[in-house]
Amino acid sequence: MCSGTQTQQLEIMPIRRYAKTLLSKAAWHAYNTYRKGARHRSRFAQAAALLDAPREDILAFQRERLEKLLQHASQTTPYYRELLKTESPDISEVPPLEKQNVREQLEHLCSEAFPQELRIKNATGGSTGTPLTFYQDRNYWNQRNLSVYYFDRWAGWNFGEPQLIIWGAPADLKGDEHWKHRLNNFWRNQYWLNGFHLTDENMQAAFERMEQCQPQTILSYPSSLYQFATFLLENGLTPRWQLKGIISSAEMLHQHYRALAEDIFRAKVYNRYGGREVGLIAMECSKGRMHINCRDIYLEIDSPNPYTEPGEILITQLNNYAMPFIRYRIGDIGRLSDEVCPCGNQLPILAELLGRTTATFRTETGTLIHGGYFTRHFYGVDGVRQFQIIQETLKHCILKLVINAKWTDATRRYLVQSIQKALGEEVVVTVEFVEEIPLSASGKREYTISKVTAPVND
Ligand SMILES: [Zn+2]
Repeated sequence: MCSGTQTQQLEIMPIRRYAKTLLSKAAWHAYNTYRKGARHRSRFAQAAALLDAPREDILAFQRERLEKLLQHASQTTPYYRELLKTESPDISEVPPLEKQNVREQLEHLCSEAFPQELRIKNATGGSTGTPLTFYQDRNYWNQRNLSVYYFDRWAGWNFGEPQLIIWGAPADLKGDEHWKHRLNNFWRNQYWLNGFHLTDENMQAAFERMEQCQPQTILSYPSSLYQFATFLLENGLTPRWQLKGIISSAEMLHQHYRALAEDIFRAKVYNRYGGREVGLIAMECSKGRMHINCRDIYLEIDSPNPYTEPGEILITQLNNYAMPFIRYRIGDIGRLSDEVCPCGNQLPILAELLGRTTATFRTETGTLIHGGYFTRHFYGVDGVRQFQIIQETLKHCILKLVINAKWTDATRRYLVQSIQKALGEEVVVTVEFVEEIPLSASGKREYTISKVTAPVND
């Protein structure tokens, strides 16, 4: 591991780095054998074979899992027993599961077949800062990990190879877990840059560590990745080794984030789409398509024609028997594609992913404006370091700005007019100058928040 005391020893020592990788690979397998038994390698091989299989095979597997889940849910959870009265229920009979249902009916959603000690508690920070608590079981986590291992390999990741992680959800960094965390990092050959505290000093230190450890991949929040890439650009720092790929996860990957990161790190950024409630939903392939993880997920689009008209994404998690999520309205908008991907993988494709519905603005006339409109118009505007637009009501928006020396009154007019052009001339835009835009409760950076559309489902 590249801790401060080892810095000198590790400098220009490729043999040592190679040995570390071998050691970590061995440690991964030893750990997995200890935790999951001798068959863990063949389980991974089976999962990978299924995800590489012809489409009809994976869809047949998915249908079978779906049927089993529906039966399990209707027989063992009070919530679905009440909703699904037939013996072999069909997915189309199940009303979408709203976040509000999860909040209000948590216990009724849990399976009676899973006593408290077999449930693993988890939570999201929530895009509006309201936490959502739910339960998962051991098999959910095992299957979720296998999928992450499989899909991360598309981005060049492999067991034991060095990885830089730019992350920092508070739940992941408890003080008493410190030693466990360090040990984990050591045998996994991972090292961290805290995405919550991206100071110049921390980013400089991370860059120096990267030069020594030469990670094969980076896993990052896209906003943190962008901030790190901007720091490297502004300070003339260029990575001197070849990364295999960068995995962007947990937030929307804006085009300008991708462009800058790919330029600075000279490696492709792979978008990984998922949620703590349901795991990995889709992953970008080498040809830039988002393939749906049909081994774990049944994905539907709530739209009259999911191939032409984007609609809200509904997720059924196929492995979490402790608390079934069936047609869960995750809060994102998407569209399907019937394209056969040139990468060769036959998993179905999510053609468009438009991000959280909370970032969709609504005008007084009922038009929906995707938050991406603002990020497109505001990115690269001289004088603005960071911004956040909050639609308070149909008639009022707050624009929070962190500005620099290039700020002018003309910029202010341009930004206010861009908002009014989209939302209506009569909308009042209050400009607030701030030192910093705080991260949301879950540690994500949000550029656009609408309080007008949010209460409908969230
Ligand atoms: Zn593909």
